[in-house]
Formats: sequence, C-alpha cells, structure tokens
Amino acid sequence: MSTGGKASIASALAAARKRLQTAGIDDPLLDARLLIAEVVGFSLTDFVMKPDRPVTAEENARIAAMIERRALGEPVHRILGHREFHGLDLLLSKETLEPRPDTEVLVDTLLPALKETVSRTGSVRILDLGTGTGAICLALLKECTQASGIGSDISADALETAARNAARNGLSSRFETIRSDWFEKISGRFDIIVSNPPYIRTDIVATLDREVRNHDPMAALDGGQDGLAPYRLIAADAGRFLVENGIVGVEIGFDQRLDVSAIFASHGFSLLDAVKDYGGNDRVLTFRR
Ligand code: GLN
Repeated sequence: MSTGGKASIASALAAARKRLQTAGIDDPLLDARLLIAEVVGFSLTDFVMKPDRPVTAEENARIAAMIERRALGEPVHRILGHREFHGLDLLLSKETLEPRPDTEVLVDTLLPALKETVSRTGSVRILDLGTGTGAICLALLKECTQASGIGSDISADALETAARNAARNGLSSRFETIRSDWFEKISGRFDIIVSNPPYIRTDIVATLDREVRNHDPMAALDGGQDGLAPYRLIAADAGRFLVENGIVGVEIGFDQRLDVSAIFASHGFSLLDAVKDYGGNDRVLTFRR
C-alpha cells in the first residue's frame, strides 16, 4: 500500500486501520481485521500466525473498497453481507434488520419451553412474525431438532433471505416462509409465537445512531407513534393462533416492559418471564394465556 514494497497482510492491516481511525470508526483494528479476513480467507488468529502472507493487487483493491465503505459509516456486517447469530451464519439484505446479539436472549429464553413441549408431545411448532433474516426461528430450529417453524414477513426480499439462510444452515426441511402482514395469511396453531417487531417510536427513529438509521430498514425499526403498534396487533390476534398453553415471546425496547405487559394483559395473557439483555436493559417478555 503506502510503503512501495510488496504488500503483506501486516502492511495492509496497518494501512486499513489507519484509514478507519482517521475516519473516527469506533474499533478500527477489529473492523480492519474482519474486512481483510473476508477478502483473503483468514480467521482472526491467522493475523498473528501469518502476518507476512502476501496480498495480491486484486485483493488489495477489494480490501480498499471495503475499507472505504466502512470509513463512510456503513456497518461492518452490511459490508461483509453476513453476520453470526447464535452460532448461525446469516446473510443480510436490504430489507432485513441486522441481527443483534441482544436478540439471542429471546432465543435462549424460549428454548426451555421448546424442549418441554417436545418432551410432552414429540414436536413443537414455531411462528416467527417479521422474521427478517430468519434469525430467531432458525436459531430455535438449530437448537431443537424436533422443532419446525414458519417465518413470516411483509417483505419478499426478507423472505428470500430467510429461505437462503435456512438452506445455508441445513434447516430448510423444517422451515417455511409465508408472505404476510402480521397474521393476515397465517393459518393453523403454534406452540410458540415469537417476534422482534419494530418498536422504536417514530419521533425517535430520526435520532438513532447514524449506522442504524442509514443501514437498517425503517420498516424493521419504526413501531409507530408510541412504538407499541406491533405489540397491539400481535396481542390482539395471537390467541387465535396458539395451542392451549402456547407461549408468545417478544423482544421489546428498554423502556417498554410495563406498556407491553399491559397490552398483553388486556388480551388475557399473563407474564411468564421478563429477561434483561447483556447491557442490563429489559429486552424480552414471554406470555401465556
Ligand atoms: N434493537 C434495535 C435498535 O436499537 C431495534 C430493533 C427493533 O425495533 N426491533 O436499533
């Protein structure tokens, strides 16, 4: 890159890190490693083991292009086009929310109920409303081999991505996608209904972190005037799609525990569990009716 000598991983990494640091990126070294690793097929430990590996001109150009996108504020996983979630490698696309580590808490909270249902009935059926990348449903299917699920979404782009993610992770035979506005096209009964709906208040959306606001789809963020509209829809209809003693699990905003609990209570649901995320904020609620 800048030294005039043959480019090595070490020199490419130093240049990339410097570019991201100058651009004010939070963790320039990690992001530089992630992007370079993608281009040259490295694992993160390879940077220590093989710093002298030569970098071809073609690789260098690809690295430079990715680093430039990152310098301009595109999130690193959007550039990579995929992200790890609960042990799955998931593709992202324009109309899918980037899966967050906090959402893994929703998966972990529901797993005992899945296993309990399987031990009683031999199987368990899941409906994931607004599935996006398929993250939640696919993670549950991976952890519970007797489970099957439907991912629904209003976005055709999201459903295509979810289906590809199922195939990519060997889960296609137990996963189906349905294009639906919430429950509109859904039929049948489920043991578990799960959702990470859009829950940001419309007036707050504009103040979100630039990387979220500019790169995550609005339809996956904006929960209406008070951020609670999707919970009202889910709570109003979930009863018709749940088996007896079925469970609803939702992700919520950090300040929505009481409001969302009240909405579900008004439709006859009682709170089973309220769980915090890795940052200590309320993040997951489960209900039974
Ligand atoms: N957790 C996301 C954020 O803070 C919001 C996701 C959602 O609305 N479901 O950007």
